[in-house]
Amino acid sequence: MSSSDPHGHAGHDDHAHGAGHGGGHGHEGHDDAPSGPPADWARIRNVGALIVLLATVVLLGLLISCSQPLAELEAKRVESLARVALADSFLKSWSAEYGRLCAEANEAEWLTNTKIVEGDDTNARRNDAAKAALAAFVGSERVIATCRDLLARAPELAPLQVRQLKAILYLAADKPATAKELVAERISAETRQTEALFGYTFKLDGKEVTTNDLDRLLKSETDLARRQAAWEASKAVGGTLKDGLENLQRLRNGTVRALGYPDFFAYQVSEYGMTSDEMLALNDRLVRELRPLYRELHTWARHELAQRYGVPVPEQLPAHWLPNRWSQDWNALTEVAGVDLDGALKEKTPQWQVEQAERFYVSLGFPSLPRSFYDKSSLFPVPEGAGWKKNSHASAWHMDLDQDVRSLMSIESNSEWYETTHHELGHIYYYLCYARPEVPLILRAGANRAYHEAVGTMMGLAAMQPRFMAAIGLTEGGKVPVLTDETKRQLLLRDALNYVVFMPWSCGVMTRFEHELYGAELPKGQWNRRWWELVEKYQGVVPPAARGEEFCDAATKTHINDDAAQYYDYGLSFVLLFQLHDHIARTILEEDPRDTNYFGRKDVGDFLKKILAPGASVDWRELMRDSLGEELSAVPMLRYFEPLKAWLEEQNKGRRHTLADV
Ligand SMILES: [Zn+2]
Repeated sequence: MSSSDPHGHAGHDDHAHGAGHGGGHGHEGHDDAPSGPPADWARIRNVGALIVLLATVVLLGLLISCSQPLAELEAKRVESLARVALADSFLKSWSAEYGRLCAEANEAEWLTNTKIVEGDDTNARRNDAAKAALAAFVGSERVIATCRDLLARAPELAPLQVRQLKAILYLAADKPATAKELVAERISAETRQTEALFGYTFKLDGKEVTTNDLDRLLKSETDLARRQAAWEASKAVGGTLKDGLENLQRLRNGTVRALGYPDFFAYQVSEYGMTSDEMLALNDRLVRELRPLYRELHTWARHELAQRYGVPVPEQLPAHWLPNRWSQDWNALTEVAGVDLDGALKEKTPQWQVEQAERFYVSLGFPSLPRSFYDKSSLFPVPEGAGWKKNSHASAWHMDLDQDVRSLMSIESNSEWYETTHHELGHIYYYLCYARPEVPLILRAGANRAYHEAVGTMMGLAAMQPRFMAAIGLTEGGKVPVLTDETKRQLLLRDALNYVVFMPWSCGVMTRFEHELYGAELPKGQWNRRWWELVEKYQGVVPPAARGEEFCDAATKTHINDDAAQYYDYGLSFVLLFQLHDHIARTILEEDPRDTNYFGRKDVGDFLKKILAPGASVDWRELMRDSLGEELSAVPMLRYFEPLKAWLEEQNKGRRHTLADV
């Protein structure tokens, strides 16, 4: 991979790198009849032979001493014990090899992300080789055949074994040896696409700029022509990625079809134990639940910004009016008087931000980070003139699925990075919580992918609440600020412009586009048209000028290229985090969810640890019912913003809503 990022870190849509596997969450189906003989791994054969021998001896004894039906029953029991032992032996040897190959692949990928030297493809080649070795192992025909054979008599196995076997088979379907050429082609194509994305040089007025520069402009510039130039500059990378994305559309669908999945979107969704239609229905329900609030925000922003720029109120929001390249986060539209977090953070070092986030987790009863975290992570921007670049999109890595945890960030002293740092450490602590002997390697993942995103984001939300900030000395004199109603309202508005605004983007635009890209194999000639139809429908946003098919605006989004067909994870995680936070505030802290202070609360830590420690060894729906007693729902998020909605309705009195229904 290479160079300056066309993304910014954006806090809540980073990647969690759980090594070679997405989530290890068992899926239903696709474990049909056994095909071919069981695995012929030497170790399994030996153990198997021993067990068969033992069973025969026991059986003979039984046949002599027992009546016929009892003997049959006993024989079945012994045979089933043998299956359990066989599965155990396979899972142990599989895990050992998987752990080794994952660590190697992660190390290679880490280098391609943290040290990008132009013209030097040593790291990229090492990455290709390590990924190919991992893929050859997880997708091998022997692994697939063994899993299928064992799962054919799943009721005889232990539930945790079944869960592992299903997860291994799910992983195999992403890189099946039965489609060897496609897999190799895909690995290489994905590496090149990421390189093209991060190696792209952005230019504004003929001068080289970083995406951080463009983001800053979109946040503060008031001249609309300058804003449009910056926005268009940020989209220039898209066209260069179009052919690569078309290739990936074919390769991603091709690889998962080899194991019977209809398309890549359906494959990704199956990790939740759901079909594509069920996932789309869930996403639409959440968007609809939040629609009345988003509609008020949309109308308010049209009027607010028209006034700010001194132009007539537009029907829909022009993309270059908003403070984010994809209009996914508008929180920079507001300032909160009396709470100047950016100002307070300017006096702190980037190092302080990481250590402070760690202190927060430790205060809840989590352990200190391993020393190696600080030694091996890449936490700060590349110094000028270093001669190399790095991926500046924040991410958290579980290198060896054990204690080697790292984060890739480019921390600067501001509130966005303050929040992002809490988010990334959420991933890191999740890794550390389930990296224990009771959780098999393949199940060292979030209960589902959304869980992994939810935890750190919730901690970020908590760390931005005034009493919390006062407690750690981020407000004037370290005193709890007496918040006026006006300040409270501004805080809520800031959060709504972040969390609520993100939902139609994540659960609407991104999810629908990728579903069509893979599920309907949307042809390249229709991508940009379809992209903007979805943006207008879900977000109520339109481009500043015509965007023909020479552009590829979808591909300017990192995830479309290198984290495909799972963007709903982030929307679901927002919904989940408000459910978790609501529960913590009301049930554990007995505080107003809008005004909490978790710092030092071991009981909150205990609640979280119970959710994190099982990893993917339990079903996510069961975990939700056990920990929260409810299903996934946007109602707690809506409730959080209730006072703001009343205020917005007041502001919007007499104004016309123009946002479409979904
Ligand atoms: Zn994340």
